[in-house]
Amino acid sequence: MAEVKLINVWKKFGDFTAVKELSLEIKDGEFLVLLGPSGCGKTTTLRMIAGLEEPTIGQIYIDDKLVADPEKGIFVPPKERDVAMVFQSYALYPHMTVYDNIAFPLKLRKVPKQEIDRRVREVAEMLGLTELLKRKPRELSGGQRQRVALGRAIIRRPKVFLMDEPLSNLDAKLRVKMRAELKKLQRQLGVTTIYVTHDQVEAMTMGDRIAVMNRGELQQVGTPDEVYNKPLNTFVAGFIGSPPMNFLTATVSSDGFLDFGEFRLKLLKDQFEVLEENNLIGKEVIFGIRPEDIYDASFIRVEEPENIVRAKVDIVENLGGEKIVHLRLGDIIFTAKFPQESVVEEGQEAEVFFDMKKAHVFNKTNERAIF
Ligand code: ATP
Repeated sequence: MAEVKLINVWKKFGDFTAVKELSLEIKDGEFLVLLGPSGCGKTTTLRMIAGLEEPTIGQIYIDDKLVADPEKGIFVPPKERDVAMVFQSYALYPHMTVYDNIAFPLKLRKVPKQEIDRRVREVAEMLGLTELLKRKPRELSGGQRQRVALGRAIIRRPKVFLMDEPLSNLDAKLRVKMRAELKKLQRQLGVTTIYVTHDQVEAMTMGDRIAVMNRGELQQVGTPDEVYNKPLNTFVAGFIGSPPMNFLTATVSSDGFLDFGEFRLKLLKDQFEVLEENNLIGKEVIFGIRPEDIYDASFIRVEEPENIVRAKVDIVENLGGEKIVHLRLGDIIFTAKFPQESVVEEGQEAEVFFDMKKAHVFNKTNERAIF
């Protein structure tokens, strides 16, 4: 087991900066998810930890060992870092059986045969592969193949697992199943794990903490609860959550309301005070609210009637358990998540309640959260 530490790490490819000023500490036994859109530098970060890529600037530690520091000319090659990588494409050896695929890393290290056999069976048991040990990869399903790839990674008992979108080739149902299995396995083994994905649901369900990246820069690190409920900026707020958070421009009014032109919403007392302290009275801000925090007003007892707004229903997407409702008020459009029983019809009007306790406000200039 090990801690992984990155200190002010940069990676440049020619003129292009793929990773910028990244400092991150992954704790012993932690499951850390690196989350961000395509091209944000997640894979490059993982490859630098693995030793497949050298940072341009900065230090990387695995445990207390400095494994990369270009300034000091230190670069420990991958095989001496004691990390195991699992990729999106599992790259099993097609001519070998499941048994031999899992045993392969130990054979390379000349581990005695009996010991190999014991460990292969132990890993196969853990991953539910015992019945499949004699099969070849082509005789397995996608999920089974992925488990073999995991088996091959865990049999070495590395200090750190590095996983790059390992579930993205699986169909939706299997992905959900493997998500839970992988998380359980990681808990059981207690191995520090760094997991790259662009899928926010995967990040939310699997990570002890999530590090959100955008354009090579770390945006926020926190527990799933923190990044969801206390996003530090509009990028994190908009990237996590589906459908995404609504962002509307508003002016802070001196009587304690947010003014959207077409309608107004009353701020809570402490929210108004924070805006006042930030000298934002009379200024424009970005108001953010998640679809699930806008209610069908006919379903709830509301204590703040001023925060009920009448809007036109543009589109209703019925998801079975709930409805995604696209609403419009003049030029202002937003999305709400209503319960299945809610009676809303396209083209009609609906009264909706904005739960201001759940509201976020961001600075319009730098897009950072004020609350
Ligand atoms: P994805 O989810 O699409 O894999 P990512 O977040 O993992 O994206 P990276 O693979 O880390 O992104 O790439 C970050 C940026 O660096 C991209 O713009 C990519 O084009 C660029 N990049 C990566 N490797 C190289 C390379 N060897 N040479 C030049 N540019 C590179």
